[in-house]
Order: sequence, then C-alpha cells, then structure tokens
Amino acid sequence: MKKRIVVVGSLNMDIIISTDRLPQIGETILGNEVNYLPGGKGANQAVSIARLGGDITMIGAVGQDEFGKSLLEQMERNQVNTAFIDQVEDVKTGIADIFHVNHDNCIVVVPGANFTLTPDKITPEMEQLIAQSDVLLTQLEIPLETVQRVLEIANKHNVKTILNPAPAQTLPAELLHLVDYLTPNETEFAMLAEHTFTTNDELATLMTEWESAYNQTLIVTLGEQGSAHLQDGKLVVTPAEKVEVVDTTGAGDSFNGALAISIAEEKSLPEMLAFATKVAARAVTKFGAQDGMPFAADLD
Ligand code: ATP
Repeated sequence: MKKRIVVVGSLNMDIIISTDRLPQIGETILGNEVNYLPGGKGANQAVSIARLGGDITMIGAVGQDEFGKSLLEQMERNQVNTAFIDQVEDVKTGIADIFHVNHDNCIVVVPGANFTLTPDKITPEMEQLIAQSDVLLTQLEIPLETVQRVLEIANKHNVKTILNPAPAQTLPAELLHLVDYLTPNETEFAMLAEHTFTTNDELATLMTEWESAYNQTLIVTLGEQGSAHLQDGKLVVTPAEKVEVVDTTGAGDSFNGALAISIAEEKSLPEMLAFATKVAARAVTKFGAQDGMPFAADLD
C-alpha cells in the first residue's frame, strides 16, 4: 500500500517582476516582465511529493479570490488531495512579490489566508488524517502555534515529522523536541543555533551539539555545495549534482519533498540524501518552483 504523507503549510501566488533596478520611495519606473507562478513552501513541497508518486494531502488555506482558485487548480492538476485546503471568506490568498534585478531578487511576502490557519482550524478530521499518515512535513509560513499543534498530533500517533524551518527564525525548544528530521539551510541553521560557522569543523561541532540536545536527525542544506549530516558522529557532505542551473527557486522544497517520500519508504539516511540530491538537481534545471519539480519517470 502507498505510504501516506501530509503537508501542513502555505500556498502563495508568486508575482515575479523583472526589472533593471528597484524604484526609490516615491518613484515610478517601468519593469520588463511579470510572471504569476504558484508557490508557497507548503504547496511546493506537496507538488514535489505528488510528482514523485506520493499519496499526498495538504492542509492549508487560500482566499476565495482568483489566485486562490488558480492555486487549488494547480494542486489538483498535480494530484495533491485538496480536501483540507480551506477557502476562507474575506481574506486574500497569500502572495509573494518577487523583484528580479540582475540575477538577484528581493521579496515581500503577504501571508493573507495562510495566517488564518490558526490551531483552532485543525479539525478532528484533520487530526484523523495526520494520525493515519506515515509522515508529516511542515514549514514556518503558517502560524507557529499551528506548527506546534500539528507536530503534537503527529507525535501522539507516532507519525514521523519533518520540519523545514524556513523562513529563518529561532524556535522554542518544546517545538523542536517534537521534530524527527530538521532540514534548515545554512542561514536557517546559523539562526537556530545562534552561532555562525565558516568551516566544516565548526559546522560539525554545532551539528553534534544540536543533535544531542534535540535527539533528532539534522540535515543542513548547503545550496550548490550539497547537504550535510552526521554519520556515526562524523560530518558527511553529500555533494550536489553538477547540472546546468536555470532557476534555483524551490530547490529546498523539492529536496524536502523527496526526503518525505524516502522517510515514508523507510530508506536509510544515505539513500534518502542520494534521492533528495538527485531530485533537487533536476528541479534547478527548470524554471519555476512547482513547474520545475521532476516526475518520478524523469529520474530514470
Ligand atoms: P530555496 O529556498 O531556494 O528553495 P534552500 O535554501 O532551502 O532553497 P538549498 O540549500 O539552496 O535550499 O538547496 C537544497 C538542495 O538543493 C541542496 O542540498 C542541493 O542538493 C540542491 N541544490 C541547490 N542548489 C543547487 C545547484 N545549483 N545545483 C545542484 N543542486 C542544487
């Protein structure tokens, strides 16, 4: 029987504006191009899982506007079960305004409906869905109390939990203790550990201290360098695959989706990382977070 995965997280419409420079306050300039692409870390990770063949249900919220409808359609097209995505009245769907300037970007996120997913919105039916899942995957683009609540439910029912702690912020110890797999990138890990690191030795020391404090598996993603984990107390870096990069948006999300599938299938840690590395490398060769996610058949 297929393993069941539940993602609890955000859905956003990414509004991507490419421009030669940013305007000053009070100034109007002409941009070059605008694209509307479905995003949000929760939705991206759910699509990654679906395209890899997982049985995936998402818990989240959108507004009753055109963006909300379009995001729901995108989830359905990708075979994500949307029965637990709320369509909230009188609130706008979350958006991310992304300004692309000379291969770099700056972003304003307006969470909108994502922040209406408060703990009281987690219904008994959702609790049952989590209890019957093999893996729960969540991130930090919804209220933190909700992240805590769904992790508690998963723990109560022995469901494996993954927290992708993005966007970067410090987190309470009681929440961290509910997590089986923590997957920060370098910036997020430095923020969580309240310590910067520059060498692999410093990273290894911080990771060792972290794992013994929280008794969880820590995987730190290092962008084009790959990812780091500890094996028998030693730092192991799984190098990223060398590919022709088109767009790295969603690299971390495809990586987390692949990890969720591997954890559900009870693969070993090196096998999980090999798979997630392969999936993320395919994702960065295509444009768009969700549209770039590979299908299982693309990996052969
Ligand atoms: P994002 O926020 O852009 O989705 P992230 O910061 O959460 O990403 P990264 O550490 O950038 O996550 O990337 C996650 C994984 O994706 C890496 O561990 C690596 O395996 C893969 N990856 C990232 N960038 C590249 C690249 N340029 N080439 C190949 N693989 C990459």
